[in-house]
Amino acid sequence: MVMTNLIDGKAVAALVRGEVAERVRALRERTGAQCGLATVMVGDDPASAVYVGNKHRACHEAGMASFDIHLPADIDQAGLHARIDEVCADDRIHGMIVQLPLPAHLDEDAALDRILYVKDADGLTPAAQGRLATLRPGPRPATPNGVVELLRRHDVELRGAHAVIVGRSEIVGKPQAHLLLEQDCTVTICHSRTRDLPSITRLADILVAAVGRPQMLTDEHVRPGAVVIDVGINRTDSGLVGDVDFARVQPIAGLITPVPGGVGPMTIAMLLKNCIDAAEAAAG
Ligand code: NAP
Repeated sequence: MVMTNLIDGKAVAALVRGEVAERVRALRERTGAQCGLATVMVGDDPASAVYVGNKHRACHEAGMASFDIHLPADIDQAGLHARIDEVCADDRIHGMIVQLPLPAHLDEDAALDRILYVKDADGLTPAAQGRLATLRPGPRPATPNGVVELLRRHDVELRGAHAVIVGRSEIVGKPQAHLLLEQDCTVTICHSRTRDLPSITRLADILVAAVGRPQMLTDEHVRPGAVVIDVGINRTDSGLVGDVDFARVQPIAGLITPVPGGVGPMTIAMLLKNCIDAAEAAAG
């Protein structure tokens, strides 16, 4: 058998999606309820259309119902809010996503604030994030929760481990810190004003890169044997690369996620998991 230190995000995501499919089937058999996800997309941004299409395909594969709400690019804020309210009130829908970015004339924060937290499949609304920060049940931010799932499924010891996160965004860095705290890690968060970054990242048992700068973290940032999780997705002339210089870090890492094929596939899997969690809770 070939030994590898690669974390296979595609394989773990497939496992999670399989488990979701099983729960969707069991819920339907037990209660007759069909788990459903809605996407709300405004306008015709081609990249957003691809992302939305991927989410519907994943729903279909998990046996879930999916609702494709496609609104005209010139819809106003009140019109968008009315559609979000309709989805929130629809008992067939247990999770929803407002696909970002919205056209420039629309206020994204106001639209996200409109989503009922129980139906927030991305787990990114302030209400869902507040529930995470205060350890209340609720949907968890999909990408950073996918990171925790990858670590758990590779038997990485989390309790007491020092996790260093580079990045403090609302969608990755900050919720990642809360999620790893919840797992009893000791957490350090770094950002663009952090002094002497390598001296801090080298203390990490688990290093999470969520910077958005191609291959910024190199072997000088990594303690040999550390687990390295690369959330970054950067499109460059030489293709898709992460925030970690994979060629230099992979030989010294204990475990490492590739890009692509590491964290990326986990986002949709965890979004489906948020949905079935909500559907089961709604069914009682
Ligand atoms: P973001 O909002 O741009 O945040 C980047 C963070 O990195 C900020 O907190 C910033 O610090 C910090 N930073 C920037 N330059 C730095 C430096 N030189 N040293 C230390 N810290 C630095 O990005 P994001 O939305 O969190 O996304 C991060 C990456 O993850 C991107 O590549 C994105 O494409 C990817 N991503 C992937 C998924 C997925 O599904 N796999 C999902 C979401 C995001 P300041 O706060 O001080 O500015």
